[in-house]
Amino acid sequence: MKAVLVGVGQAGGKLATALAEFDADMSFGAVHDALAVNTASADLRPLPLDTVLVGQSRVNGHGVGGDNELGASVMDEDATEVLDALAPKVTAAVEAVFVVAGLGGGTGSGGAPVLVRELRRVYDVPVYAIGVLPGRDEGAMYQVNAGRSLKTLVREAESTLLLDNDAWRSAGESVEGGYAAVNESMAKRVGLLLAAGEAVQGVGESVVDTSEVINTLRAGGMAAVGFASAPAAEDPGENVTTVMSITRSAVMTGLSLPNATDADAALVTIAGDPDRIPRKGAEKARKWVQEETGSMQVRGGDFPMTSDRLAALVLLAGVERSRRVEEFLERARQAIRDEPEERPDPADAFLNDELDDLL
Ligand code: GDP
Repeated sequence: MKAVLVGVGQAGGKLATALAEFDADMSFGAVHDALAVNTASADLRPLPLDTVLVGQSRVNGHGVGGDNELGASVMDEDATEVLDALAPKVTAAVEAVFVVAGLGGGTGSGGAPVLVRELRRVYDVPVYAIGVLPGRDEGAMYQVNAGRSLKTLVREAESTLLLDNDAWRSAGESVEGGYAAVNESMAKRVGLLLAAGEAVQGVGESVVDTSEVINTLRAGGMAAVGFASAPAAEDPGENVTTVMSITRSAVMTGLSLPNATDADAALVTIAGDPDRIPRKGAEKARKWVQEETGSMQVRGGDFPMTSDRLAALVLLAGVERSRRVEEFLERARQAIRDEPEERPDPADAFLNDELDDLL
C-alpha cells in the first residue's frame, strides 16, 4: 500500500523513521513519504525526515512535558501547518495515511487523535493510527495518557494498530536499554504489512493485494499484527506443517498486542518463495486463524519474495474485545483511581465515561 507516515511526538518520529528506513532498505516502495511533527525541537533535529515544529507560541520548542491535553490543544491550533506540509506528500498515488505515536507521552498522545480527525476531514483515503502502548512498569501518568488517547483514537481513526512495548520486552528485547532495537523490530512487522500488496515478483492469483489489507482494517476499532518465520524446504509439500506452525506462532507468541486473539476480521499472508508456499498449508492456516480468533472474515494471500525461509504475517482487526485490551484499560482505570469493575464486554469501556475523551 502506498502510504504516507506522520510521526507525532518522540516515539512517533523515531518509529516513522525506522519504518521509512526498513521500507527503503528492502526496496519495497510502500512508504511514499514521511513527516515528523513535534513540540520539542530537540527531538526533531536528529530525524532524517521533513519536520514540523508545532506549538512554538505555547512551549517555545521545549515540548509539552507529558501533558497530553496541551499536546491536543497545540495540534488543534497548528493543524493547518501540518496539513500544509503533508499536502504535497499525499499525491494521487497514496492509498493511506498512517499517524504514528507513542500513546503514553504528551505530544503524540494528545496530538495524534487531533491530527487523525483533521486528516479524515481532508482526505478520502483511509487514515489509520499506529499507537505504541506504554509498558506496564511505566508510571501512572503514561497509563492514563495512553488510555485517554486510545479511547479517542479508536473513535477518530479508521483503525488503530497497536504495538505494545511489553510485547517486545517479553520477547527479550530491553525496552529501557534503548528503543532502537525495539523500533527496528516494530518497523519490520508493520513495514511488511505495508509492503504486502506491493509485491513486485510473481503476480499469481494467490498474491495478496493492498485492497485486502484495507478491507481487513475496515473492521475498525483496534488491530494487531503478528509475525513468525522458519526455514523452508524446497518442496512445497514438505512445508505444510511449517506454514501451520509459523501461523500459530505469529498469533500465539508473535502478536504486537499479545493475547489479542479475539478478532472481527483477519488477513493471513504467507511470505516467501512462491514455489515453496504450499497451497494446502496456506488454506489450513486460514482455517486455523478463523477458529482461533472467531473471525467471520479471514482473507489470505502470498507475499512473494526471494528467501529460503517462509514467514507468516497475520493482521487481526477488531481486537478490542481481547483480554490484553481489557488488561490495559484496567491499568489506565486503576491509574485514575476508579474502582475497577467486572465487565462482560471490555469494549464497553469505550462507550461510557470512565476514561474522558480528549476531544
Ligand atoms: P511525546 O514526545 O510527548 O509524544 O512522548 P513520547 O513519544 O516520548 O511518548 C512516551 C511513550 O512512548 C512512552 O510511554 C513509551 O512507552 C513510548 N516510547 C518513547 N520512545 C519510544 C521509542 O523510541 N520506541 C517505542 N517503541 N516506544 C517509545
